[in-house]
Amino acid sequence: MRVLWDILKHAQEDCVAIAHFNVSDLVLLKAVFTTARELNVPVIVGASEGERNFMGVRQIAALVRSLREEFDFPIFLNADHTHQLPEAVRAAEAGFDVIVFDATALPFEENVTRTKEVVERLKAINPGILVEGELGDIGTGSEIHEEAPHSTKGLTTPDEAEEFVYSTGIDILAPAVGNMHGMLQSMVRGETKKHLDITRIAEIKRVTRVLLTLHGASGTDDEDLRKAIDAGINIVHINTELRVAWRHGLEDALAKQPHEVVPYKILLLAMESVKQVTRSRLALFNGR
Ligand SMILES: [Zn+2]
Repeated sequence: MRVLWDILKHAQEDCVAIAHFNVSDLVLLKAVFTTARELNVPVIVGASEGERNFMGVRQIAALVRSLREEFDFPIFLNADHTHQLPEAVRAAEAGFDVIVFDATALPFEENVTRTKEVVERLKAINPGILVEGELGDIGTGSEIHEEAPHSTKGLTTPDEAEEFVYSTGIDILAPAVGNMHGMLQSMVRGETKKHLDITRIAEIKRVTRVLLTLHGASGTDDEDLRKAIDAGINIVHINTELRVAWRHGLEDALAKQPHEVVPYKILLLAMESVKQVTRSRLALFNGR
């Protein structure tokens, strides 16, 4: 099995990106895994602190590991938005492949100090683990927002990005380049799209030369996503779109089978709804 680092480097050479989908139950995990296998492309599943609390840190790690081993398939696991060192250590010890350490709400110098400490601790536990740091304002909560939280003042500057990467030793940087966690109602309805600062992405890539992750990509214009990948984005996070599909699929299933009580018969329809989103996103990010 190739390690995630090699897969990301190859993806970069091929100008494609690895999709990252958040999961908080078996429906989402199976939907992601099944579609990635159908398209035969590597994939990362992520679990935030809330999602890990729900599923169990060691339990989600065991599930992903069992899929990777049984099917000899490149599916990897990310500890998404981890805010404290002990939580990062727990995920590393459970066998997560990547840890996103998120101290971006803190002042720059403090973000540097704490991220650097996390990099050192995690590499001591597992030298092969990848550590991602975050810089700039990309909001919180992969949910439906009533009002746009967007503000240009939180975008990552290339100068800060260069200093942050150099000072912390991170493998991957998550910048703020027009992306934002969550979606607006108008985006769920498909009436509006997020747009990205492609020039800024290219400049951050040029000065840092590290792997770049685009968080909060749900509801982003497809053409912008393709250009962002060409400009140097290596991992693209989709969460809210999956959550919306999960809910709509479940509502449809319950409405169509008002008397059904067998969970897997109801949940199969929710899974099909999620698969439609993961299939189209995997195809887009992999240039299919
Ligand atoms: Zn995120």
